[in-house]
Amino acid sequence: VIAPVITIDGPSGSGKGTVSRLLSEKLGWHLLDSGAIYRVLAIAAAHHDFGPEDEESLIALATDLDVEFVANEETDLTHVILEGEDITLTIRTEEVGMQASKIAALPRVREALLRRQRAFRELPGLVADGRDMGTVVFPDAEAKIFLTASPEERAQRRFLQLQEKGFDANMNSLIDEIKARDDQDTNRSVAPLKPAEGSLILDSTDMSIDEVLQEILQFAHSKL
Ligand code: C5P
Repeated sequence: VIAPVITIDGPSGSGKGTVSRLLSEKLGWHLLDSGAIYRVLAIAAAHHDFGPEDEESLIALATDLDVEFVANEETDLTHVILEGEDITLTIRTEEVGMQASKIAALPRVREALLRRQRAFRELPGLVADGRDMGTVVFPDAEAKIFLTASPEERAQRRFLQLQEKGFDANMNSLIDEIKARDDQDTNRSVAPLKPAEGSLILDSTDMSIDEVLQEILQFAHSKL
């Protein structure tokens, strides 16, 4: 039996991370935060001094990446461990997000990460969040969702998230940075950010997290 998958794609700050976590908890399913993998790779590349132009080195790094995701009920976080080092918080900065986005534009790097992402598909099911979950990684997913929100709202959410994690953030530069990263993700030639065919498109600008969750649950139930 192949495990069912619900994909949630969308730009940064759309709420997909939070909603995916809640949805996976509610269903008792596994969770794939695919953006975290690109962020970890960006940090690992920086450790080795590999820039986006070192494609061969990045591919090798992506293939052998020694990363673990460990759920911690006390902190309610999935801890990210790279080569034994806990980098849960450091991967979340907008700077790392931008580096991740540069590396993520390289087709062969994406290919090298495919198997790792697909390995998360295990019974009883998987909630997968990212940019190309419904279009490329799990094209046969049972239910596909594309979650968006206005750039201002997304920047505001990211701002609060960063603050909560103890990072200094500036609202104006954050809006610019998020727009630049989303442009890059939307306009790249491989696995661009776009709704998969047949997805439920949800604009969460004026919705609470619970409202988004309820809509997605209803849609998913109609598909499963
Ligand atoms: O979702 P998150 O902001 O953590 O993702 C960081 C970056 O990783 C994105 O801006 C995007 O360039 C890349 N990414 C991707 N495909 C995914 C998930 C993330 O290209 N499925």
